[in-house]
Amino acid sequence: MRKALPEHGTDWSELESSLHAAGSRDVKWREGRAAVYVFNSGEDVMQVAHDAYGLFIAENGLGPAAFPSLKRMEQEVVDIALSLQNAPADAAGSMSSGGTESILLAMKACRDWSLQHRTVLGMPKVVVPYSAHPAFNKGAHLLGLDIVRVPLMDGYRADPQAMADAVDDRTIMLVGSAPCFPYGVFDPIEALSTLATERGIWLHVDACVGGYLSPFMAKVREERQLPALPAWDFSLPGVSSMSLDLHKYGYAAKGASTVLYRDKSLHASQIFDFADWPCGRMSTPTFAGTRPGGAIAAAWAVLHYLGQHGYVDRARRIDHVREHIADFCGQHGLVVHGDPVLSIIAFGDPSADILAAGEGLYQAGWFSSRVRKPDGIQVMLSPEHDKVIDAYLDEVLRQVTRVRETGARRASAEVRYS
Ligand SMILES: *Cc1c(COP(=O)(O)O)cnc(C)c1O
Repeated sequence: MRKALPEHGTDWSELESSLHAAGSRDVKWREGRAAVYVFNSGEDVMQVAHDAYGLFIAENGLGPAAFPSLKRMEQEVVDIALSLQNAPADAAGSMSSGGTESILLAMKACRDWSLQHRTVLGMPKVVVPYSAHPAFNKGAHLLGLDIVRVPLMDGYRADPQAMADAVDDRTIMLVGSAPCFPYGVFDPIEALSTLATERGIWLHVDACVGGYLSPFMAKVREERQLPALPAWDFSLPGVSSMSLDLHKYGYAAKGASTVLYRDKSLHASQIFDFADWPCGRMSTPTFAGTRPGGAIAAAWAVLHYLGQHGYVDRARRIDHVREHIADFCGQHGLVVHGDPVLSIIAFGDPSADILAAGEGLYQAGWFSSRVRKPDGIQVMLSPEHDKVIDAYLDEVLRQVTRVRETGARRASAEVRYS
């Protein structure tokens, strides 16, 4: 039966209990059981985000004149992001509600900028690697763009030659991920930057995962005298725009991302300005009208709470866990897909059905993603995973051994996200 609004109100204490009960069957992320969706860097960081969100819960980022506080906080967050990504002095950006919106905004800006500054005969086209996030197809669908997914090269990375071959007169955007979601490997952004520069095409770097982690992981690798991360940011001259999620490795409250542009004129193409209605001019930089003040304040507060040192400490914890998983795979005949050097690692089993083991992990309460081509279990690591990694790997070994011994096959041929 359809639920109706209750006639009388209910006390908060009772509602609070109902909410706790409602969440009781959700994945136990506080106990480290989720390696996707939640980015747990500790109770203290969560509390800062929570309290900052609460202080600005009613404020609206749509009204910078009414809330100069939010305007200032957003500008400071964007400035911090630009500094982290080695952006030129004339660079600009916005906060958005998430990675998907940041990507859609960059695609919109690219479309409008390209149609204004170039001759594009036919439907404008976007060329992305096979491993790019589905948000690019969503964006193409919504913005009336053509999109092609190009097969990957060795190491599950974007293939610059194949992408060059896919470029034609209609191509307005190239995409590389730093790193990609499925395997956590960096696309060769430097080669894509060269291609973009040579052909005069906009290059978007999807750093939704890496944006707020790579600058700090770079320091950790320096400390450990490991090879540097591949280049990914605005120091490469062909990079026009980037997406970086605050609600992933920025450890901010959900509903916070950043989209950055090499210069102000590119950013200007993102903004929608409209005046022909009774209330006069309304200029909105993002797709939203009302924008939650809490998400802006929480992101601002967490960045300042952690500072460079806080982020480097958390990167170190993630690095430790990733390496632990890679060692475990080596010891137990599992294969790591590609060369993931950040916070995502996907692994398969050459001798058994890894997706059947993945189903067993899920039944045992460990929630992560799974990949295909090749099959694998994929985890997106948080700093707090260092407290449960041994228990997790014990369960992985139990499941893999079970599947190897019984020859069990996956119950479902499909890997779904929702
Ligand atoms: C998470 C993610 C996105 C989309 O971000 P949302 O915040 O979920 O909308 C895009 N690209 C990559 C690489 C991601 O990991």
